Amino acid sequence: MMELEATIKKRKRKNGKRGGGWIVQSRRLAIYARDGWECLICGLNLRGCDPRAITLDHIRPRINGGGNDSRNLYTCCQSCNSKRQDRPLAGFASPDAIKRVKRNIRRKLKGVSCRL
Ligand SMILES: [Zn+2]
Repeated sequence: MMELEATIKKRKRKNGKRGGGWIVQSRRLAIYARDGWECLICGLNLRGCDPRAITLDHIRPRINGGGNDSRNLYTCCQSCNSKRQDRPLAGFASPDAIKRVKRNIRRKLKGVSCRL
């Protein structure tokens, strides 16, 4: 019994503190699926990769008022995400990459019932 309680406490702490908790997992996965499990910046195929290597990036950075709407988010590999930081997308991504992002954010998310 004590062990079970300890496990529950541990799990709670984990969920509360882990990075990436700003978006629910199903929504995150729906955006990855919308983007074809591909980094929209460098085109790297992220299907089946280490979960730490696949990230969501904000088109308009949160620091500049960008929200967590799926139309402000795109799939990005860890490497491109950390290189970009808070730079505007236009100053970082290639024109082709920007075209890909703009095309993908218009797509509807599948399997996600809630809308922001
Ligand atoms: Zn990339």
